[in-house]
Amino acid sequence: MGQAKDFAFIKENLGFILAWPLLCAVLAALLWGSALSTVEDDKRLLKDSALKDAATLSRAYAHYLTRTIEQVDQISMHVKYDWESSRGKLRLEDLRQKGLFTASQFAVVTILDGNGVPRTSTAAATHWQDKAFQELLAFHKNNNSSALRITMPGAENASGTSNASSTNDNGFIHFTRRLEKDEDNFDGIVVISVEQPYFSSFYDEQSLGKSGLLAVFGDKDTVGTSRIGDQVYPASEQDFANSLVLEADNGATHVAGKGNFTDQQSRYVGWQNLRAYPLTAVVGLSEKELLSMHRNDWSSTRNYTIAGSIFLLVFALTATIMSARLAWRKHQAKQVRDTYRLATEGTDDGFYMMHALRDLHGTISDFQFVDCNARGAQFFGLNQEELIGVKLSSLQGERYFQVLLDIYSRAIETGFYEDEYELSEESGLHMAWARRRLVRSGSGLAVTIQDISAKKESEREMELLANRDGLTGLYNRHWLLNFLPKAMARATTEQHKLALLFIDLDGFKKVNDTQGHAAGDNMLKSVASRLQSVLRPSDDVIRLGGDEFVVVLQPVERDSKPARVAERIAEAFKQPFWWAGEKHQIGASIGISVFPRDGEDSETLLKNADIAMYSVKAAGKGYYDFFRPELYAKLRARFEMEQALMQALEQNQLVLHYQPRTNTLTGEMTSMEALVRWIHPERGLISPAEFIPVAESTGLILRLGDVVMEKACAQIAAWKIQHLPQIPVSINVSAKQFHAGDLHQKLSGCLRKYNIRPDLLEVEITESSMMGEDNAIIAELAAIRELGIKLLVDDFGTGYSSLSQLQRLDMDILKIDRVFTNELDKSSEGKIFFKAIVSMAHALGMTVVAEGVETANQLELLRSLACDEMQGYFISRPVPADQIPGLMKKRFLLPLEEKDENTNLLSVA
Ligand code: C2E
Ligand code: CA
Ligand code: CA
Repeated sequence: MGQAKDFAFIKENLGFILAWPLLCAVLAALLWGSALSTVEDDKRLLKDSALKDAATLSRAYAHYLTRTIEQVDQISMHVKYDWESSRGKLRLEDLRQKGLFTASQFAVVTILDGNGVPRTSTAAATHWQDKAFQELLAFHKNNNSSALRITMPGAENASGTSNASSTNDNGFIHFTRRLEKDEDNFDGIVVISVEQPYFSSFYDEQSLGKSGLLAVFGDKDTVGTSRIGDQVYPASEQDFANSLVLEADNGATHVAGKGNFTDQQSRYVGWQNLRAYPLTAVVGLSEKELLSMHRNDWSSTRNYTIAGSIFLLVFALTATIMSARLAWRKHQAKQVRDTYRLATEGTDDGFYMMHALRDLHGTISDFQFVDCNARGAQFFGLNQEELIGVKLSSLQGERYFQVLLDIYSRAIETGFYEDEYELSEESGLHMAWARRRLVRSGSGLAVTIQDISAKKESEREMELLANRDGLTGLYNRHWLLNFLPKAMARATTEQHKLALLFIDLDGFKKVNDTQGHAAGDNMLKSVASRLQSVLRPSDDVIRLGGDEFVVVLQPVERDSKPARVAERIAEAFKQPFWWAGEKHQIGASIGISVFPRDGEDSETLLKNADIAMYSVKAAGKGYYDFFRPELYAKLRARFEMEQALMQALEQNQLVLHYQPRTNTLTGEMTSMEALVRWIHPERGLISPAEFIPVAESTGLILRLGDVVMEKACAQIAAWKIQHLPQIPVSINVSAKQFHAGDLHQKLSGCLRKYNIRPDLLEVEITESSMMGEDNAIIAELAAIRELGIKLLVDDFGTGYSSLSQLQRLDMDILKIDRVFTNELDKSSEGKIFFKAIVSMAHALGMTVVAEGVETANQLELLRSLACDEMQGYFISRPVPADQIPGLMKKRFLLPLEEKDENTNLLSVA
């Protein structure tokens, strides 16, 4: 597969890859062609000049020969004249001695008589008997011309009869002239014999080289002489003479070496006929020698050509490799693109390759679609062919294009850009929301666009869900925390205030715990709709969680507005809630914080509203309050108190004091109330009025209640062991203890543990603890009575309970709150009110106790109103347990001065 691909790649790019080698081959061919043609031209020029040189040299040689022969001619004439005029008395030997023959060293002058006998000579006689001389003699005898005759070596018989033995082969050139005496009678010949080298001394290596040729040819009879380099050869050996067109007076030609020259070397040959003598001067220049000179030039040209060729080869190779690599890279890029396309086709994302278009200054002015997938084109409502080539600017409005251009240009700069954006009408894209991803690719951008409209829609739904409370449909905490900062910012710019109402339900936990979660949910729903019913639609209601709600009011000018709304809410909660056929009373504590006064951020504003709510709750519930900085200090003090109280419980710092309850008439002690005291290691004795509310609001009251119950029972048992009179003890039980539901179990457990009679223990419960039409309350009370423990209604008159209610709950004793005792001798209404309660309680079978009796006068009035029992400082303050036995023994506790009516015994006690 890979191989096939590679093959395809090679096939596709062959032309591209081979372009360079082909170009270089052509260049090399041209280079060589020109080099070779230069060489050819040079050769031709060389040949031309060689021929010219040969011709010139042959002319010079001819001239030289002519002068040399003329000299010989003159000598011969001179000798002839002297011989003839002296009538045969000339002595050549004398002439020589007189220095007549300058060239005597190579020329020999001899006179032969008619019979061929030498008569006189410049040298010793040699072969005068030779046939050659005989023939010359015969020639001159028979020919009466007195012209000089030249006989070359190898010449044939002068008479024309061919005879090998008659040739001149003694190596000399003979110049002969006829001698006469007395009227043309033959008298012999003068012979001047010149050595062959004499004619070739013209030879000059400078111009002829080492293998140059010099030759002299006569006519057929007088062949001639030749010299090649240093060697002299008979002219007959130089066969070229036959091929020369010697008919012409002069000329030059190339003569092949083989069979033409002794040394078989080719030559450029020039020739020139001598004008005065029947001789031809020939000069040959060796072709080989000339070429070898030229070859040096050629070899340097060739070297340059080879160097050029090598350069071309290297260049071709490099260029081929580079273009192959380029082609491969292109091929790979294309493959990557094809693959990418393959990958991008069929996906839901739009993919585009964009090319950046730049203006003259190089700044990007537009983008062009270079490629895209089908989906990408579809986003623009086009098909691929239609989109490719299109400019970005032509797809959207001018304003939006500028925005896009900015983003795209930045992506080119930084290499990457990604975002999600809501599309405008102008965008040209057919979707509501898109995620785009721009990646720089070369000089352009790879753009991916994803249609995230559906995702955004579901996100919006999720957002809606995330912002709503599932149970009530109100906004939730998440929404509030998002909303508040914006609302505060708006309030700041519009210069108004904003109020937060923090609402906490009173009694929700009880419902949830005793009625179950379904009831709790129902209640929350009812609360939500009631809240909304008392607010304007523009006010936002939020359920923070549990039984906590927040109302945001804005705009707010003065505190009176949130106060009014809080009152409306509190009022609305006074109406009982109904569900499952039952009536339920729920209160609401409302804390108010105002922006910017009570906090400039959501957290502080919420916290302060919460603190205000908390202080409302601590103060007694069911109302509202604004946040004040001192609330925070109070809250802090409370917190510290809580911590200390926890420690007090652990370290047993609590003790019980006892306050006797007596018969109004006799003053006999009927019971005593156990009242808790905190002996603080540093602060000393702390009143329950200070710490009981903290214990109640934090839940510590449950543990505290257990401790009190335990201590009271232990005390009863101790007195019993001490054989003291068995007098009942009443303990105070808070609403929380009562609602915990296990009070009767704890009481019976305690009785059993200390082995105490139930009639020695009494339980005081406040009116408000028993409020509500609650079956659990009735059941709990019944269970306690069942144990034989008496039930007392504490602080009667401060709550909302009615006597008929108390009767139904089967209470034993009614303790009328001390504010009413205090009113007894102050107004007639007080007395009437008191009397009414006493008579009604009696009618219902309950014993009546007056609390807080401080004066004898009060006692007197109580007696007159038939109040059964009393309790107060007039009889005794609450005292530590160790003082009780004394009181028990005394039994009748009325002060001695009882009869002295106007005396306040408080000071005495
Ligand atoms: P209470 O149940 O109404 O208790 C009677 C309170 O009246 C006691 O205050 C007592 O000292 C005070 N007192 C009695 N006679 C007179 C009088 O002639 N004049 C005046 N001015 N006051 C008189 P104390 O001991 O400070 O207790 C305050 C409250 O603390 C109690 O009111 C009770 O509600 C609560 N408390 C005390 N001990 C306990 C306890 O053990 N458990 C619970 N849950 N609450 C307790
Ligand atoms: Ca009490
Ligand atoms: Ca009381």
